[in-house]
Amino acid sequence: MASTVFERSLPDARLVIDSLTDARLKPFWLDDLRTPPLFPRYRGTAGFDLAVVGAGYTGLWTALQAKERDPGLRVAVVEGRTVGWAASGRNGGFCEATLTHGAANGLSRFPNELAQLDRLGLQNLDEIEATVARLGLDCEFERSGSLAVAVEDYQLKELKDADDGDGEVYFDGVGIRQLLDSPTFLGGLWSKRATAMIHPAKLAAELARACAEAGVEIFERSPVRGLDSELPSGPVTLSTDGGFIHADQVALATNAFPSLLKRYRLHTVPVYDYVLMTEPLTDAQLASIGWRGRQGVADTANQFHYYRLSADNRILWGGYDAVYHYGGRIRPAYEDRPETFRRLASHFFTTFPQLEGLRFSHRWAGVIDTSSRFCAFYGLARQGRVAYAAGFTGLGVAASRFAANVMLDRLSGESTERTSLEMVRSTPLPFPPEPAAYAGVQATKWALDQADHNGGMRNALLKSLDAVGLGFDS
Ligand SMILES: Cc1cc2nc3c(=O)[nH]c(=O)nc-3n(C[C@H](O)[C@H](O)[C@H](O)COP(=O)(O)OP(=O)(O)OC[C@H]3O[C@@H](n4cnc5c(N)ncnc54)[C@H](O)[C@@H]3O)c2cc1C
Repeated sequence: MASTVFERSLPDARLVIDSLTDARLKPFWLDDLRTPPLFPRYRGTAGFDLAVVGAGYTGLWTALQAKERDPGLRVAVVEGRTVGWAASGRNGGFCEATLTHGAANGLSRFPNELAQLDRLGLQNLDEIEATVARLGLDCEFERSGSLAVAVEDYQLKELKDADDGDGEVYFDGVGIRQLLDSPTFLGGLWSKRATAMIHPAKLAAELARACAEAGVEIFERSPVRGLDSELPSGPVTLSTDGGFIHADQVALATNAFPSLLKRYRLHTVPVYDYVLMTEPLTDAQLASIGWRGRQGVADTANQFHYYRLSADNRILWGGYDAVYHYGGRIRPAYEDRPETFRRLASHFFTTFPQLEGLRFSHRWAGVIDTSSRFCAFYGLARQGRVAYAAGFTGLGVAASRFAANVMLDRLSGESTERTSLEMVRSTPLPFPPEPAAYAGVQATKWALDQADHNGGMRNALLKSLDAVGLGFDS
């Protein structure tokens, strides 16, 4: 089996270990919040026009846009822990236009409406930018675009082919290294408008502030234990430890956590994604790599890294390992995985040997709600009174706002461009129950790793998954 550049150009082992010794086990973004939002627990029994479960981006965008559509509505957001503590407060902050987890995935699943989905995705990103400006959301929004870089020869063709001479521009090895200097880069594609960088936890906190200012009632530390709707019409009841919520309509925005609708429990599996953050770079360190365009960056193997600058010029470095635990378990203990953090640090110094001696200040992990089609799906239940959106598969920073609008459209009962989409009307295949789910995920991961070590050649398992519409191409 051939090696990858990260194995051919290994940094010194001591350098890797030393770089991690002071890294706190905490998402940098949440640590960086000066005044985290604080909302009461839910207590008592009350009626709402709309109750939203989950205070990540999906839930907060749903509540905010519900109030913008109709300021007279009484809207609640009920969160089991605290605003933005989960994926929304700990992600990479790549706010990407794509609604389909990239063009290749979109083309394989929705070939007839990909152009429409791309237009709607770009419009959604433009509207996020406009909302950030209109409401003054302090979330370090930078529309810097993104670089997809090739670090092996076989990865070049796809990037060259994507050049459209306009928004997508291909650079050869010399050109890409003038934008960002790594000896591993062989070429790259700069997507100029399709990605913005944000501070994830600040976006969640600011959305919560905007919700509260619009009159949304937010409740934290109030897990919803059950959802009942005995009658075919009338309110749906959510039970919490502090009492009951009766709501005419409910939007479920619970991402990787078990769905309150049993029928969707097998439609996502929680997969852990790992991240490192460096200390701030000095001016000299930053000058040694360039990166004046401050783009978000990803390399292009199946197992890929994503990286970006923060406002204070740290480098966030995440991805590569994706870890699924038997039974779909979610546990705080899974967030510390020393072998993964060492692997990430090693790959970092392979990519940027100029930064030898730089240290990581934070390390963390979060759960991604993987669906079998690698982009969100939309459920509707209880005679149209309960909407559900999940399955972003690690690319939901911008897509969550689109999903919020889909849920509101569907709850309104109106037919819109969004509700007419095949992507919205169709539901992906569920994952099989254990032990098949675990075996399937492990076999797929192994096959993807083999492909990365074999010039991108996909084996029989991956080809079969591609053929039945379950294939994954990063
Ligand atoms: C490490 C990492 C890196 C990522 N990087 C990127 C990136 O760069 N770009 C990108 O686009 N996407 C990225 N993602 C994915 C992105 O963060 C998510 O798609 C997005 O945040 C999903 O938002 P959400 O509101 O649906 O989910 P979440 O933020 O997970 O929020 C769901 C909320 O629901 C609450 N909840 C669940 N069940 C209940 C219940 N029964 N009662 C009450 N509350 C409940 C949870 O407590 C949680 O707060 C990343 C994810 C991770 C983990």
